[in-house]
Amino acid sequence: MIIAERKTLKELLEMVQGCNRIMILGCRGCVAVCSAGGDKEVSILASALRLGLSRQGKEIEIQERTLVRQCDPEYIDPLNEEASDFDAVLSMACGVGVNFIADRCEDINVLPALNTTFYGANLSSGEWKEMCAGCGACVLHLTGGLCPVARCAKSLSNGPCGGSQGGRCEINPDVPCIWQQIYDKLSRLNRSDEMKNIMPIRDWTQAGHGGPRRRIREDLLP
Ligand code: SF4
Ligand code: SF4
Repeated sequence: MIIAERKTLKELLEMVQGCNRIMILGCRGCVAVCSAGGDKEVSILASALRLGLSRQGKEIEIQERTLVRQCDPEYIDPLNEEASDFDAVLSMACGVGVNFIADRCEDINVLPALNTTFYGANLSSGEWKEMCAGCGACVLHLTGGLCPVARCAKSLSNGPCGGSQGGRCEINPDVPCIWQQIYDKLSRLNRSDEMKNIMPIRDWTQAGHGGPRRRIREDLLP
């Protein structure tokens, strides 16, 4: 899922300065699962903003609302009318949701309440780990299911680098060297010989380095 975390209250108070009426807009997708932007977080942020503003001697009207998703037009398009008389929509979605509102609701002033961080998995309550960078050309069939793009500090296609020591990454010794882990995994699968194969140079245009990506599935088009 997409992992995000809320900006500080100080940042958000600064963001809504000058507004008289705002809508805090949550999302029941990934950000709800990672406890950053679902119904509960909308309610907490609304209370915190009201308190913070009252301490500054200010009062603004805050409406709380949560959509099923902020990355689908069927949920976003009604905002054009619903939010038209608000000074701003403070979105608690990931950056996709904020961008999508900005694109589709041309007259809505949309503000980001979250910092979107990575695609990750939930290790335990309150702990997430990056697992994929959305590179567009997955090589996990070659690496025992462990991602060298997101999980190697240098995104090496043919690791480990010379700095791998005792199974730890030279960039951050708190983090295991993923190429060591790839080797260990392939060894357990009796596939370690595959590491002798040089992975070809990656086409990074598939990873977004060629500009914003777009996918069209002909079979799903209306
Ligand atoms: S190789 Fe690319 S698509 Fe596959 S997990 Fe890594 S970043 Fe994601
Ligand atoms: S030590 Fe391992 S994880 Fe760290 S940069 Fe080198 S190959 Fe990548």
